[in-house]
Amino acid sequence: MQHSFDVVIIGGGIAGASLAYQLCREHRVLLLERETQAGYHATGRSAALFSTTYGNDTIQTLSRMSEAFFRCPPPGFCAAPLLQPRGALLIARHEQRDSLAARLGTPGTQWLEGAALQELVPVLRADTIAAGLYEPQASDVDVASLHEGFLRALRTRPDCRLCLESGVVALESRADGWHVRTERASYVAPLLVNAAGAWADELAALAGLRPGGLLPKKRTAAIVATNEPVPASQPMVIDVAESFYFKPDSGRVLLSPGDESDTPPGDVWADDLDVAVAVERLEAATTLRVQRVVRAWAGLRTFSADRSPVVGFEPGRHDFFWFAGQGGYGIQTAPALARIAAYLLDPRLGEAPDAAMRAALAPQRLGR
Ligand SMILES: Cc1cc2nc3c(=O)[nH]c(=O)nc-3n(C[C@H](O)[C@H](O)[C@H](O)COP(=O)(O)OP(=O)(O)OC[C@H]3O[C@@H](n4cnc5c(N)ncnc54)[C@H](O)[C@@H]3O)c2cc1C
Repeated sequence: MQHSFDVVIIGGGIAGASLAYQLCREHRVLLLERETQAGYHATGRSAALFSTTYGNDTIQTLSRMSEAFFRCPPPGFCAAPLLQPRGALLIARHEQRDSLAARLGTPGTQWLEGAALQELVPVLRADTIAAGLYEPQASDVDVASLHEGFLRALRTRPDCRLCLESGVVALESRADGWHVRTERASYVAPLLVNAAGAWADELAALAGLRPGGLLPKKRTAAIVATNEPVPASQPMVIDVAESFYFKPDSGRVLLSPGDESDTPPGDVWADDLDVAVAVERLEAATTLRVQRVVRAWAGLRTFSADRSPVVGFEPGRHDFFWFAGQGGYGIQTAPALARIAAYLLDPRLGEAPDAAMRAALAPQRLGR
């Protein structure tokens, strides 16, 4: 038997969940996720930072547009605040000072050096690190609560469904809409949303469409035990070239080498060498010594050629919508990006993007 819906969203990560949250108020939404847990891939593996100075101009605008939702979510959305104070400090070694200075004047940041820098992050090596740019408002995101808040709204709608263990294996466009087949069931809907993260281009191919040029890139992270404790109040520290970052995490340190290696879509694992590189960079920049790697993981951050998300209808069609390419910013931009996508799908919902934002996100810009 075939079940019919108004829209089928493929991919239950933060992208698919946030858009389902917007659309389920007015539409019969089916959210299909291949795994047993909706946040199993990139969404469940992030460093959980919210920063309005990270990423390109489009990302920064989307993050600012998302801030009010994070700081003041709708009543009943979550039990505890979505953001916790963290702060982010971009650091530069002496030879990197010019590239940090180029960011001087970034709204919401303060330039720090000498004693002020040491006072904020005492473990930084004074002979190595020359300066820092501090963003006090950067915060940790409770990603699980954000994701669950989106999904809960979907679950409460009697005419909407979240189906786990429902990998889409076939897509066919017919006169009555898309026929979507998973290993378990078949569905039909006039509108299909591609929120498949690292698999977005594979999904487009399954639909008989050209790829969007979306490249999954592996990013490694680890929790390590160090010789001296890092105070829980310390900001996230990020090298200006993003060659490593670290922040306190429940008495340990979360650490990443800032890697970006092209990797085919799939389940990915941390490579020991990447973790070793992160440890080496941490120890070169700080007085910390890593005693033990507690656990390590990796995830795929999926980028378009210009590193902005791809949000909009497939050129020339009104039945296939791209919602992909969130790169390393899919958590912090999720509220605003979902509102924009919802508006493009149904102007009664969401938030109209201005012309510049619409063009920056449009699939047409990729010139496939
Ligand atoms: C180490 C790391 C650190 C990061 N740090 C941050 C950070 O600090 N801040 C931030 O904002 N972002 C961060 N990110 C990026 C963020 O995690 C991603 O941008 C975001 O999670 C992407 O969400 P998504 O829903 O597009 O992808 P995913 O979470 O990967 O979801 C896509 C889903 O689609 C499903 N799927 C694919 N194909 C099919 C199919 N055929 N049928 C059914 N389901 C399918 C997959 O199973 C998957 O669950 C980080 C990422 C990593 C890896």
